[in-house]
Formats: sequence, structure tokens, C-alpha cells
Amino acid sequence: MSTSYTTTIGLEVHAELSTASKMFCGCKNDPHNGEPNSYICPVCLAHPGTLPVANEEAISKVLLFGKAVKAKQAVFSEFDRKNYFYPDIPKAYQISQYAFPFLTGGQLFGVELTRVHLEEDTARSQHDHDGVSLVDFNRAGVPLMELVTEPVIHDARTAGDFARELQLLLQTLNISGAQMERGEMRVEANISVSKTDELGTKVEVKNLNSFRSVESAIEYEVKRQISILEAGEVVTQETRGWDEVKLKTYTQRIKETAKDYRYFPDPDLPKIDTSKHNSFNTSRLNEMLPTLPNEIRLNYKNIGIPSNQIEQLITTKSIGTFFAELVKFPDFGTNVEALKLSANYLTSDVLAEVAKGRKFTLSNKHFATLILMLLGSKINSRVAKDILIEILDKDADPAVLAKDRGLLQSSDPSALAPVIEAVIVEYELAVAEYYAGKEATIQFLVGQCMKQTRGTANPSLLAELIKTRLNKTRP
Ligand SMILES: [Zn+2]
Repeated sequence: MSTSYTTTIGLEVHAELSTASKMFCGCKNDPHNGEPNSYICPVCLAHPGTLPVANEEAISKVLLFGKAVKAKQAVFSEFDRKNYFYPDIPKAYQISQYAFPFLTGGQLFGVELTRVHLEEDTARSQHDHDGVSLVDFNRAGVPLMELVTEPVIHDARTAGDFARELQLLLQTLNISGAQMERGEMRVEANISVSKTDELGTKVEVKNLNSFRSVESAIEYEVKRQISILEAGEVVTQETRGWDEVKLKTYTQRIKETAKDYRYFPDPDLPKIDTSKHNSFNTSRLNEMLPTLPNEIRLNYKNIGIPSNQIEQLITTKSIGTFFAELVKFPDFGTNVEALKLSANYLTSDVLAEVAKGRKFTLSNKHFATLILMLLGSKINSRVAKDILIEILDKDADPAVLAKDRGLLQSSDPSALAPVIEAVIVEYELAVAEYYAGKEATIQFLVGQCMKQTRGTANPSLLAELIKTRLNKTRP
């Protein structure tokens, strides 16, 4: 198979916006819970004579997204009717946007964006009841943000990573749950291959329900298109689905063009001048922006946290929020060593416990106390880890706990001297090995002293004291 083909991928991503109500009516926006057809009204059921009213919260959420990706916010915008017949579209058209989307341009993860517009979701059909199809209208009219990228992605991995970064941004901005397996975020990929500068025939792949599916489907489709071209045949422009079991794409339908949809401005909705609405005010939206994932990455990098830990902190909400609060702590937040150690404990020990289903309700204050005790050599790392795991789901003070249990680290040479003497007597053979030149035996003796002190001694101090003591009586 020839390797001289260039793959070109553009993505279209739909994200359900987490607003209180639906896009054009007052029904509750909660398509994933509740009895089927419980959040419905004459507007989202398309009864004749009803009138849609645009949801201000949904529009400002899209515009906030625009600020985060530095897109151009339209001053003039309008909604259009996208006409097509399908059982889950009760009006026989979907209210969407065509010529005047809310956002154009912008960039995310190094990928240029074409546009972002707002539309309404369709109802949900279920075909699994012995030949009977059922329709649930709870999802009909849920605000849906559609993002279209430029065709500038050239491999499956980048497409997957773009989708992951988009999910993270939507969640950080708190504008969508963006869980792919719940259908809150849906990715479609337009894929073509070509040997020349001209783009090849593009095929659209739908039904991608996970990041892994996005990557696998693109890899499969690239191979399929190349083998068609290598056989001297032509690629058909069409929409294909992704079969997650067979790991293959399959023909769904021949792709409609914009002309087939007969778009025209919806006469029932007023035109929107974003400069005239206080909620759409540019400086107000900029003020609402939280710290974005890329800014967080840079801040943590400057602290000296390794990049794999940074990604874990950014993508795991429980430890990420916790760490962000630690960074804001007076004194602690400027203590680089303390923050690095905290990141380390959070991404290893704490994350492992949380993955097992443990609750993580320890307060920042007591976590910080523990880290400072360790840094100040008041406890050793073994004791610190044990205490941390123990108090993870309660809010006990580690200082009190360590003191009550006699776990405070002993760094007092005079207190350790009798322990060392006893161990030297008991492990005569090991001592002889040390004198014979086997340096590593010191670690064994340290281990024995640690046992005697129930793990509270400072191991590096012990090693030093044992060596000095043994050298004194070297035969
Ligand atoms: Zn409704």
C-alpha cells in the first residue's frame, strides 16, 4: 500500500449545553434522567401556532466559549430553519444557524476553528421494541452547540487529542457535561485522502461514542479509502456509521448538501444584535472566564511539577480542584517544595485510593499540615503515607494523630543510640559483613532499627549514626 497519501480530517462536534431550560421553551433541560416525555410542552412538540423564544443562557454560554478559543463574536446573528423530515424532528425542520453563526474563527489545541453555532437537539428514537419505534421528546429542543474545525488535522491521534481537549474546556467553562458515552458530546469526522495538493472526496463518519472510537474509525477509514484508490476506483461521498463491535465503518446514506436542507431565516425568531444585550457584552464575558487548562498547565510547569502529574491534576476533578485550592493557601501556595510533594502524593497515593472508590474528604488544611510535617522531618514518608491513607475520608489532624500514637520521627541521636547498640549486638553477622566491605549491609541494619522504633526514626540519620558507630570499633 502506498504511503504517499495525505490524510485530511475536519471535525464537527455537537455538545449539549447544560442550561436550566431548553433552547426555545421553558421545559427542563434534562435529557438523560426522568421518565420519557416528561419534560415536554406544545413548543418542543411543535404544535401548530406555538412560538419559540431563544434561550439567553444558551447564547451566553456559546459566546463564553468564543472568548476561551478567541473566536470572533458576531454582532449580527440569526436562527435558520434546516428542513428535513425525520420522526425525531416534530416540526419537520430543526432550528439551527446557517449564514450568521454566533462565532467564527478561533483556535483550540493548535487546530483552527471554522465556526460555532447554536441549534436545538432532536428527540430520541428507540427502535428496540419488536418492530415498534418509540420517540422520547425530553431531548427535543435541548440547546446544542455545534463546532466545526477547518480541515487541518492529518492523523487520528491529533483528532482524538483535540476532542479530549475540547471536552476538558467545555467542562472547565461549566457549559456542558461533555460526557461522550452519555451523548452529551458527539463527534463526527470528515475524512479524505489524496496524493495531490487537491483534497480527496470526503466521507463523514458518525456514531463515534468515545475518544477511542474517533481514533479507530479514522484509522480504519483512511486505510479503506486508500485501498479503494489503489484499486483504481473512486471514493463515494457519503455518510458512514462506525460499528464499534466489528471495528468497521458502513454506509448510512449518501450525504445531503446544504441545498437539500433549504435553509431560510426562521421568521418566528427575532434577529440578534449581540452588542445590544448586557449578557452578551464582550468585557463581561471575558471577566466570567475561569483559568483555562492551558494557563493552569503553564502555572504548574513553573512550579516544577512533572507534565504527567500536571495532566492528571487537570483531568481528574477531585484531586485537581483540591490542588488548585492548595496553590491559593497563604505561605503553602508559595512553598515550591510543598506543592511539588503535594502533587506527587495526590497523583499517586490519593488517586489510587479514589480509584478504588474511597471518598476524599480530607480538608486542605490537614493535608497541608501533613506535607509540612514531612518536609520538616517531623515524620518520615512511611508514616506520612499511612496517615494520609487513614484520614483520606475523615478530617483528622495528622499532627495530633502522630503525637498520640508516638509516630513523631525521632531525630535525636541520644535517643537512637541504645537502639543502634542493641541491633549491633543482635546482628553480629551483618556487622562482620560490613567490616568485610559489604556497604549495603548498612541498609539492613537501618531496617532493623526502623522496626525497633516502629518506623518513627529518620532513616538517613540512622544510616549516618550506624556508620559512625561501626567505624569507631572497626577491627
Ligand atoms: Zn418544551
